[in-house]
Amino acid sequence: DEERDGGPQAAARLVVLAGPTAVGKGTVAAYIRRHHPNVWLSVSMTTRQPRAGEVDGVHYHFVDDEEFDRLQEAGEFLEWAVVHGRARYGTPRGPVERALAQGRPALLEIDLAGARQVREAMSEAFFVFLTPPSWEDLVDRLIGRGTETEEEQQVRLATARTELAAATEFDAQIINDEVSRAGEELVSLMFDPRSPSPRT
Ligand code: 5GP
Repeated sequence: DEERDGGPQAAARLVVLAGPTAVGKGTVAAYIRRHHPNVWLSVSMTTRQPRAGEVDGVHYHFVDDEEFDRLQEAGEFLEWAVVHGRARYGTPRGPVERALAQGRPALLEIDLAGARQVREAMSEAFFVFLTPPSWEDLVDRLIGRGTETEEEQQVRLATARTELAAATEFDAQIINDEVSRAGEELVSLMFDPRSPSPRT
């Protein structure tokens, strides 16, 4: 897809992908990492422990609390948030700015609180909300992936309910009915200069 992905005429744009917990943001991001290497994907810092198969520097930069504190105090984050009351996650500012300066469309996959901070910091960014085909589908995904305890699942479902209501704050919504379809729709929004940006 060389022609569509980042030809010299494509304007570099920051796209923020958010959505409720367990909707599959990470899976859509992984699809794009694999199929659209011209999209620059931000690698977040996190204080949580790596899961099996996660590679430091690829999926996240895994750091300890002291290092996260240091970066936070130095103003190195474009945004950061405590997610699910457990760990801190943040987007390093420098790499995003460098990617955009190089004319590469950049994608951030972050939580809702983070997306709101980016909106304050960079009003020209484009905000995409990933939504499940149905509430039942979201419940199935959350329970099906089996990465949380039952108690955590209940907390996350309550969070997801509130988060779903935020969809209207976004520039576009994509239904995650199928990863490849949703991923292609996201990429087409990233590269289509006609995508509306209501704040401009
Ligand atoms: P997980 O721990 O399952 O990889 O991610 C948990 C949540 O953290 C996801 O909703 C993901 O979008 C969010 N997240 C990942 N990186 C960042 C980040 O840099 N900033 C913010 N605010 N949220 C993030």
